[in-house]
Amino acid sequence: MATFRAVRIDKADKGSTAALTAFDEAELMDGDVVVRVEWSTVNYKDGLALTGKAPVVRRFPMIAGIDFSGTVLSSSHPDWKAGDQVIGNGWGMGETHLGAYAERARVKGDWLVRLPDGMSAREAMAIGTAGYTAMLSVLALERHGLNPQSGPVVVTGAAGGVGSVAIALLSKLGYHVIASTGRLAEEPYLRELGAAEVIDRAELSGPAKPLAKERWAGGIDSVGSTTLANLLSMTKYRGAIAACGLAGGMDLPTSVAPFILRGVCLYGIDSVMCPIELRRQAWSRLATGLDKEKLAEITQEIPLDQVFDAGAKVVAGQVRGRIVVKIS
Ligand code: NDP
Repeated sequence: MATFRAVRIDKADKGSTAALTAFDEAELMDGDVVVRVEWSTVNYKDGLALTGKAPVVRRFPMIAGIDFSGTVLSSSHPDWKAGDQVIGNGWGMGETHLGAYAERARVKGDWLVRLPDGMSAREAMAIGTAGYTAMLSVLALERHGLNPQSGPVVVTGAAGGVGSVAIALLSKLGYHVIASTGRLAEEPYLRELGAAEVIDRAELSGPAKPLAKERWAGGIDSVGSTTLANLLSMTKYRGAIAACGLAGGMDLPTSVAPFILRGVCLYGIDSVMCPIELRRQAWSRLATGLDKEKLAEITQEIPLDQVFDAGAKVVAGQVRGRIVVKIS
């Protein structure tokens, strides 16, 4: 295959352009494993890259797409051989290294995770970076010592990708999950996923008091800004919040009060450069910790040429759950 289909991002006078093109295999970047990409997904960061709304792409031309699942075609890496089914996400793919919206990817074998037993390549991308980040957040709360007896947990950005998977994971573990959403019409969807309570995100979006009434033992926040500040001020004594997103803003207008008066912990979650051992643990837990029926319910499938529209909708906060992209 001398050329293959790919979503290419180019620099323009103002911002960038994105288009489905034929990409020359000779232009692929260094790597010791070539993968036939079968599935990808549309995450918030993909939306930013496709729309050019934020400068996530730092090399041009770029192939968009931060995660894929597929089959190894060739490898000079000792861990991988042709035919192996793999997941690749983060490590700068779609940002500094040519990404996943393409029929071919050439990457470092050290970046890849074996597709867990019992998980299909399509399911892996229905989970995608958003779901894997939700799992990293759950793992952080567990390392903190949180368990379902600690008290309720809150999930913000509940109807989004990270939020939807976080609710499904936490409820299956037995937690009382409070889902915070701006789309109250999605309450039946959120309850179906496992939310015990659904609250209006407006409750958490005003300026935060240093300390407010204790409402939850922990939480997973994909929104940031005043939402995260409110979450912290409402966290119970010695509770913990895992912060993984900025859908509501990059700032954090809080005080030290929750930390020094209630011993609250704030954990930062990064999926991109996450060490390989933790990735393997997260994907393995996702293989057993997520109901396949629930995953299917939150997933819609699109072909590669529809990622442009889907990316704009994700950035506008209009997508419910997860989108998988069929690549080949
Ligand atoms: P989605 O767009 O699917 O979900 C984001 C959700 O946040 C929306 O569905 C909406 O939920 C809520 N939201 C959107 N805009 C606002 C706003 N202005 N104020 C308050 N809430 C808002 O994105 P993902 O779930 O894929 O990603 C969520 C966040 O996590 C993003 O910021 C993303 O960059 C980040 N992320 C970080 C990773 C990491 O490595 N740390 C990895 C993956 C994602 P609702 O309608 O229910 O209110």
